[in-house]
Amino acid sequence: MLQVANLVKDYKRFRAVDQVSFQVSPGEIVGLLGPNGAGKTTILRCVSGILRPTFGQVLVCGHDVVQDQAGAKSRLAYVPEVPNLYELLTVEEHMKFVAMCFQTMDVFESLKEELLERYDLTPKRNSLVATLSKGMRQKLAVACALIHRASVFLFDEPMIGIDPAGVAEFKRELARTRELGGSILISTHLLDTAERLCDRVVIMAKGKIVAEGTLDDLRHSSHLEDADLEQVFLSLTEEDSNEGPGLPVR
Ligand code: ATP
Repeated sequence: MLQVANLVKDYKRFRAVDQVSFQVSPGEIVGLLGPNGAGKTTILRCVSGILRPTFGQVLVCGHDVVQDQAGAKSRLAYVPEVPNLYELLTVEEHMKFVAMCFQTMDVFESLKEELLERYDLTPKRNSLVATLSKGMRQKLAVACALIHRASVFLFDEPMIGIDPAGVAEFKRELARTRELGGSILISTHLLDTAERLCDRVVIMAKGKIVAEGTLDDLRHSSHLEDADLEQVFLSLTEEDSNEGPGLPVR
């Protein structure tokens, strides 16, 4: 379970995230959507413990990311938009290193083969990370996120740069992870994918949540009964949509 309550993040005098609250339950995929600069990555960085919130609280399976960083991080897997990988390790060494850090060596051997196969990394298992293509790096980052027994998964634009087979596999992976009770938060600009994949979406604009709910909830609240997510998104995030009475935020 991921709980974000009244999260605020200031970069000096600029408020990038303003009083954001939402949660992701076990077995749920939530899409974090918003135009460029809306604050999505900042939220993911606060949740992952990379950035310290200015105000507010983030709980990962009940562990506060500021007060109990180790507890929170042990339950969390984060795949950033541009994965930070250790260039001088091989693919297999990288996966092993992650398993050692998260103390999941007991399942490493069996999981490793499965993940290498699933993400087409078997031929590259002995290659240095520095020699991988962009998409392969993304696949390795996803594989590493799955190698430790996390309960909360954060993905920032995970499907950018991955080939269609990799994207299909990633979607199956999300479905499997949801089945196993994982809480998944995924930031993406791919609205048609979000529409198919996510149980709920949180739509941000200018650091604030402008709407949250299932697609049906959003259609209903925006009076666009037959619209797809793209149409709803555009109606909610168009210029100045934060001003005036706005739409209900659940
Ligand atoms: P995108 O869809 O383009 O990736 P985003 O929704 O992820 O955007 P953020 O990267 O969270 O948005 O940025 C939110 C705002 O905070 C933007 O106005 C951005 O310029 C600003 N910002 C982000 N990082 C910093 C930083 N280190 N210092 C100052 N401002 C920052």
